[in-house]
Amino acid sequence: MARRWSRKSSSSKRTFLIIALFIIALMAFIYNSKMFERESPQVLIDESIYWNLKKPLNVKISDKSGLKRVLIQLSDGENSITLFNEKYGAGERELEFNITFPKKGFYSKKNEYTLSYEVVDHSFWNFFMGNKIIKETAIIVDKQDPLVYVVANSYKITKGGAGIVIFKAEDPNIDEVYVQTNFGKVFKAVPFEKEGYYMALVAWPREKKNLLSAEIIATDLAGNTAHEKIRYYLQDKNYKSSKITITDAFLNGSIASLARDIADDETQEMTPFEKFIFINNTLRRDSLKTIETITDGINYTKRLTLNPFYPLKNGAVVASYGDFRTYEYNKEKVSESYHLGLDLASTAGAEIFLSNRGKVLFAGENGIYGKMVVVDHGLGVYTLYGHCSSLLVQEGDEVAEGQIIAKTGRTGFAFGDHLHFGVVIQGIEVRPEEWMDEKWMKDNIFEVINNAKSLINSEKQQY
Ligand SMILES: [Zn+2]
Repeated sequence: MARRWSRKSSSSKRTFLIIALFIIALMAFIYNSKMFERESPQVLIDESIYWNLKKPLNVKISDKSGLKRVLIQLSDGENSITLFNEKYGAGERELEFNITFPKKGFYSKKNEYTLSYEVVDHSFWNFFMGNKIIKETAIIVDKQDPLVYVVANSYKITKGGAGIVIFKAEDPNIDEVYVQTNFGKVFKAVPFEKEGYYMALVAWPREKKNLLSAEIIATDLAGNTAHEKIRYYLQDKNYKSSKITITDAFLNGSIASLARDIADDETQEMTPFEKFIFINNTLRRDSLKTIETITDGINYTKRLTLNPFYPLKNGAVVASYGDFRTYEYNKEKVSESYHLGLDLASTAGAEIFLSNRGKVLFAGENGIYGKMVVVDHGLGVYTLYGHCSSLLVQEGDEVAEGQIIAKTGRTGFAFGDHLHFGVVIQGIEVRPEEWMDEKWMKDNIFEVINNAKSLINSEKQQY
C-alpha cells in the first residue's frame, strides 16, 4: 500500500509540475506576446480647450495593437450627442478626427461642454476585451470677439517720436493685448488703473519711409481677435541729411586705431576701407541689435510721471537725433547711417546725471557706442548713454534721480569727447528732444494719462 501510494503520489506530482510549467509558459507567452499587450490607447488632445467653433478640434488616437472601437461624445451636462462611434478591423493604429460642433440633433444654449472619448484596442488582454481608455476634455465655447475701445491717446505722433494710448479690452477669457504697427513692431501693453484697462507707449521709427499706422489687438483664449485703429495725427518731419567724405588719412588713422580698439579680432586681416565698412555697417547693426534686445520689454511701474531728462550740465548739442548720413569714398557712396541719439558735449570727462530713477540694465562695452549705460525707467521708457570714459554703475543697480552714472568720453565710434544720449521706447530709439521738453511730455504723455484716469474713475464713463 505504502509503495503504491508513493508511486501514485510521485506521478500526480509530476502531472502537477507539468501543468504548472505549462501555465507558467502560457502566462509568459501571453505576457510577452504582442497580442496581449497591456498599453492603453493614446488620446492626444488638451484637457481643457477654449473654442470659438471656427477651427475644428483635432484629436489624434493611436494604439500599438490597433484600434477596435472609438466612441466620441459631446455633453453639456444634461444632453449629449454621439459624434463618432466606429468599429475598426485590425491594422488601424492611428486615427485623426477633426471635430466640429454638431449643427443638427443637439440643441444646447450652454457654453460649457465635455468632450469624452472611449477607445478600445485589439489586444487580447483583459480576457480578450482589450485595453480601454476613457478621457475627457472640458470645453468652453466663446464666439465673442474681445471688446476694445480707446479711452485716450496722444493727439499726435511725430516721425521719430513717441505717443501713448490708453484703452479698454474686455473679454471673459482675455489672452493677449498689444499694439501693432504697420512696421511689424509689437508694443506690449500693461494694465492701467483698473481691471480691463491698458496703456502702451508707441514709437514711429525714424528710418521708415511710410507713415505710421498703429492698431490695438486683443485676443482671447478661444482665438477671437479684435482690432482697433489708433487715430494719431501723424506729423512727418524732415531730418537733416549730410554727406561725409572718407579720406585715406581718416581710414589709416582714426579708423585703423578704432578697429584695433573695438574689433581687433574681426578686422585684423582687413584693408583700412574694409575696416570702416565693418565698423559702420556690421558693428553698428550689432550694437543697435544689442540695444533693441535689452530694451524690448516693458517693466510696469506704478509711477506714471517722469522728469524731463537733462543728462549733461551745460551740454551743447553737437549732433541731433535723426541725422541721415551718407558716406563717400573716392566720390562713390559706400555706406549710410541714421543717428538715433542726441550728441551733447561739455568739458572732457563731464559727469552724466540721471534725471529719473530706474534700474541699470546694461553697463559695459557695446561696439560703436563704446562704454555704454542703459537705464530702465518703467512704462517701456529707457535711456542710454554712449561713448563714456568711465562707468560708475553696474548692471542691476537701482539708480536714483540725480545720481551720477558715468563720465563722458570718446569710446566707440566717437571722435571727440561727448555724450551720445538716447531714449528708447520698447526697443525703438526715439527723439530724445521730446523727453527733454517738459511741455511736450505734459501735453503728449502725462496729461493723456491723467485724463484717462479721471475718465476711467468717473461715474459716467463716457468716451
Ligand atoms: Zn551720437
